[in-house]
Amino acid sequence: KSRNLIYVVFSNFQINVIQFKFTGNTLNFCANNYLGLSSHPAVIAAGIAALRDYGAGLSSVRFICGTQDLHKNLEQKIAEFHQRDDAILYASCFDANAGIFEVLLTPEDAILSDELNHASIIDGIRLCKANKYRYRHLDLTDLENKLKDAQKHRLRLIATDGVFSMDGDIAPLKEICDLAEKYNAMVFIDECHATGFMGPTGRGTDELLGVMDRVAIINSTLGKALGGAAGGYTVGPQALIDLLRQRSRPYLFSNTLPPPVVGSATKALELLMASAEIAQSMAAKTKRFRSEMQAAGFTIGGADHPICPVMLGDARLASLMADDMLKKGIYVIGFSYPVVPKGKARIRVQISAAHSNEDIDRCVDSFREVGRKHGVVS
Ligand code: PLP
Repeated sequence: KSRNLIYVVFSNFQINVIQFKFTGNTLNFCANNYLGLSSHPAVIAAGIAALRDYGAGLSSVRFICGTQDLHKNLEQKIAEFHQRDDAILYASCFDANAGIFEVLLTPEDAILSDELNHASIIDGIRLCKANKYRYRHLDLTDLENKLKDAQKHRLRLIATDGVFSMDGDIAPLKEICDLAEKYNAMVFIDECHATGFMGPTGRGTDELLGVMDRVAIINSTLGKALGGAAGGYTVGPQALIDLLRQRSRPYLFSNTLPPPVVGSATKALELLMASAEIAQSMAAKTKRFRSEMQAAGFTIGGADHPICPVMLGDARLASLMADDMLKKGIYVIGFSYPVVPKGKARIRVQISAAHSNEDIDRCVDSFREVGRKHGVVS
């Protein structure tokens, strides 16, 4: 089948609407569908069953008539998955990030945030009245200096993405937790690009780096690896989750998650708790893509993560190459300033367990041809 695909490209503040013929033979390499669960038959069946049994939606926020057993069940599963006390669901992780900091922190406290944290963390921090420190990206010396300065405040919270979405680079959580202990701070991580597949059993960056018992609070999404529909959550200590249920504005004043979304996400978590096979398959394909692309002469940012930024530098080159890739049936997007820093334009490729090895090879072959055409590789 062929469909028209319209997408918007931001380039040097200019917005271009581009229309392409999108054919059934096109492979998607730019979704956050890391584990391919959005099209998993069991995930779809669970969504349909919840739709049939509970309806399309509950027309209510959680604390009125928007809580059903399936919401409580999913919250318990999330807590079990992350090995924390309890969890609270939101309509999105954007909401979870918007709703946490102002509840937790007062003007007497301090928040220390990596400069490349996701926009939703930045917005959440804007909403709170704590003293704000922005440390340089992954820079432990800068973080330590700011922690020293923040000793004058009552409470300190360090906030970082577990995995950063533009480069697929990973926060040094062990060292961050060491600093947190030294300077009496708590650690918060956003695991949107880690939940379900980072670490030996896919628990996330905290599992990968051996700090599950040292990271206090996790926010993450159901809208990427866990079925890809929508929804977010906070998971952490019981007292915090109880407080969020009383005070967090996006939780109190926004509609509950629709049953089909909850049904699908619950099944996605069950699949991941039963076996690490899907995550391992994605990791093997990521390795294949990264090593084949590097052998072809491309520079790939980050390490060992399914976010594989093909670094090109020039914004126009990234955009032209992405257009040529689409003509070859590979759907990827060029990212340039202001989404990434000036001079760091790239095509962000994302690998999924749903890709076959042949899909990966087809993507690399297309990159090789398009890269040669544009003089990026020889
Ligand atoms: N945090 C990070 C690091 C993200 O990449 C995203 C989504 O792009 C979000 C939060 C927001 O997640 P959601 O789509 O569930 O609102």
